[in-house]
Amino acid sequence: MTAIPQPENTALAEVASALRSAGRILAMCHIAPDGDAIGSLLGLAWVLRSAGARPPGAIALVCADGVPEQYRYLPGAHQVLTQAPPGPWDAVVTLDASDTRRLGDPYRPEAFGGATVINVDHHVTNLYFGDLNYVDPGAVATSEIIVALADALPAEIASEAAICLLTGIATDTLGFRTSNVTPRVLLTSVRLMQAGADLSDIIARTLTYRPLNDMRLWGLALGDIRQAGGAAWVAVSPEMRARAGAAEGAESGLASFLLGAPEADVAAVLSENTAGNVEISFRSKPGFDVSEVALALGGGGHPQASGCTVPGPLAAAEARVVPLLVAAATPRNAR
Ligand code: 5GP
Ligand code: MN
Repeated sequence: MTAIPQPENTALAEVASALRSAGRILAMCHIAPDGDAIGSLLGLAWVLRSAGARPPGAIALVCADGVPEQYRYLPGAHQVLTQAPPGPWDAVVTLDASDTRRLGDPYRPEAFGGATVINVDHHVTNLYFGDLNYVDPGAVATSEIIVALADALPAEIASEAAICLLTGIATDTLGFRTSNVTPRVLLTSVRLMQAGADLSDIIARTLTYRPLNDMRLWGLALGDIRQAGGAAWVAVSPEMRARAGAAEGAESGLASFLLGAPEADVAAVLSENTAGNVEISFRSKPGFDVSEVALALGGGGHPQASGCTVPGPLAAAEARVVPLLVAAATPRNAR
């Protein structure tokens, strides 16, 4: 595993108690949000509402990049703001973010008015930046932690919360296909289905969903697969994105797809954004760890899925990243 020190977690009961006694709560998730970021953000809000009534506006939900199209079916998605309303807050809950940079502009402690920052996450690379920290790398999704938090509050998980939380679990496990899916995860998911979440609808809207222009971009990228040792990667330029007419985030899922190749122990997608930076997604087969690669490049994530952003242009990023990627493909006992 990784050499990252793991400070003490706050007991979940203490997190629950801090939330019960907080009048005004600001919750936020990471930039470039995925299903677990938005799912855990909205799921937490529904759970807090069923734990006890608060006046209107007492719970604010923020994601700097807003809610991507394919997650707008989530109950309450329209309530997500891109900027934090004025404080003061009693508690600020950060979700699915291993460091504060990942939260973007809304994370401004000087504007929180003395709030208790509660860091809830499942990334092994979490930097424990909160006043209270509940980080469980054994959880498949931050949304899975929110289910445990609901039980600790205690709060009922009604259908709205269940849809959001099952979305987080189903997307972060790529439809229950990752190596960390245990009977516990499936039992939790059954519980969310029994509470009213439609699993096949969630999978269709999030994991199967793929506009044709996104597929066109995949075609361009996959037409030039690069390979060295046990590493396979592709590069996506702004020109390729323009040629395909693809939206931001069109590459999501591409790194996992590439990892399906038997030749690849590790895979990466390097994608240059319009600001000239290169966003990188890393994936690895069990037994290989890409969380350390991402952490070394200023990002973070999990042993099997991680990411970071490095300065462009693409060729420079590739020259910097590929040696680390190839090294990560070498089994530890062969180094
Ligand atoms: P994805 O490749 O799906 O964007 O991200 C894979 C995993 O790495 C996710 O768990 C995501 O939260 C994490 N990740 C991706 N990019 C970054 C980054 O720039 N910083 C950090 N800390 N984590 C990242
Ligand atoms: Mn997650």
